[in-house]
Amino acid sequence: MSESNEEKKDEIQLIFGDKRLDGRRFDELRNIKIEAGILKRADGSCYLEMGKNIVVAAVYGPREVHPRHLQNPSKAVIRYRYNMAPFSVEERKRPGPDRRSVEISKVSREALEAVIMKELFPRSGIDIFVEVLQADAGSRTACLNAASVALVDAGVPMKGMITSVAVAKADGVMVLDPMKEEDNYGEADIPFAFLIRGGKIESIALLQMDGRVTKDELREAFKLAKKGAMEIYKLQKEAIMKKYISESVENG
Ligand code: UDP
Repeated sequence: MSESNEEKKDEIQLIFGDKRLDGRRFDELRNIKIEAGILKRADGSCYLEMGKNIVVAAVYGPREVHPRHLQNPSKAVIRYRYNMAPFSVEERKRPGPDRRSVEISKVSREALEAVIMKELFPRSGIDIFVEVLQADAGSRTACLNAASVALVDAGVPMKGMITSVAVAKADGVMVLDPMKEEDNYGEADIPFAFLIRGGKIESIALLQMDGRVTKDELREAFKLAKKGAMEIYKLQKEAIMKKYISESVENG
């Protein structure tokens, strides 16, 4: 937390009895809306809202990699770009990559590499672009959820789904899927991504943390994140099913 946030924290109350600033329970997600296949020119795509976050994911490939020296003879090369639109945040963000977006792109790519069956596509590339149109904390988790759906929409063979959600510590309480105030003025922020296979959480594909928590709080965070991820996973699956049902109706 920055020094100015530290000062402001004293004035901002995040927890009111068993409720949060926006009226949610501690284990409650923000409203989530997911739509697969929204872009005509991408091989796979997804529109996703997670609270006030609005993101769009586009997947291209598997396709030939350029420049060619980047090709890998034994597997596909995965590229992931997390990008925030200048108008997505309160204080206009300078366009283009910065340290934060490069880091988020790297860890997100690594999480998705755990599920994409890269060995099936030697010498090719799969490009994943995720644009944040509106950010309100947890944008990296919203982007990963959208990217996962876009990959399925593109028909990329995967071992499972990646589903992501953060947990924060706000006024000493662990809370699921923090919004901006909880992220800014809370004591810790812990984004998770899980590999879900056959409807079950198989492993953790991303885990980051800033702030400080006790062992018990970390255990509680894990429990909350797993609960949230299973709810998000259900919505990801529903969005994919909806797209395929509407496609099969269109095609008779
Ligand atoms: N944020 C911002 N300007 C920036 C980067 C971030 O206003 O240049 C805000 C934005 O709302 C974002 C939040 O800070 O969602 C938390 O950012 P963090 O780096 O924790 O990533 P996120 O929680 O979005 O994955």
